[in-house]
Amino acid sequence: MIIMGPPGAGKGTQARYIAEHFGIPAISTGDIFRANVSQGTPLGVEAKRYMDAGEYVPDEITNRMVRNRIDEPDAKQGFLLDGYPRTLAQVEELDGMIKFTGHQLDAVLSVVVDKDEVVKRLLQRAQIEGRADDTEDVIRRRQEVYLEQTQPLIQVYGERDILVEVDGLGEVDEVTKRIFDALDVVPES
Ligand code: AMP
Repeated sequence: MIIMGPPGAGKGTQARYIAEHFGIPAISTGDIFRANVSQGTPLGVEAKRYMDAGEYVPDEITNRMVRNRIDEPDAKQGFLLDGYPRTLAQVEELDGMIKFTGHQLDAVLSVVVDKDEVVKRLLQRAQIEGRADDTEDVIRRRQEVYLEQTQPLIQVYGERDILVEVDGLGEVDEVTKRIFDALDVVPES
């Protein structure tokens, strides 16, 4: 499965609940990049330049990282991708990867939120948490890049009839309930 949505839509939190329900790993490319940045690996050093500017890390680097990650034993039974694919080139690359591993895409979950609302939320969070790198310019740039490069993917997956759209506004557990309803699963308490 894939979970998609603009920055600030709350994908990460929902991804963890869904992955736990299905007993599969939630693979967040943003988390893997951040872990590499904090460990100072060559990948992290390279990725940081782009992340700090609100730009996407080049496809070649990102694709290679995902290919290695889904090759891990815990992903053999399936996986949930959070934050990947984000470009049309990544969609194609992922198609190739899952064909190779014998998986299939079961669902692409799109968390729909109002753009102005998420920018407001992200600005508040940056202020509260004192994230110096999350300046208003970078936050706005991330939204722009999402609109330009990632939003078109929703139509691509819509045409494949695997798209599930869920309203992402509201409390976390309300959104989780909507997601499970839309996926037609009974959540475990
Ligand atoms: P996220 O936490 O998913 O918003 O990701 C944080 C940052 O990591 C993004 O703003 C990008 O710079 C980078 N990133 C994460 N996933 C991707 C991807 N699939 N393609 C390119 N860059 C990515």
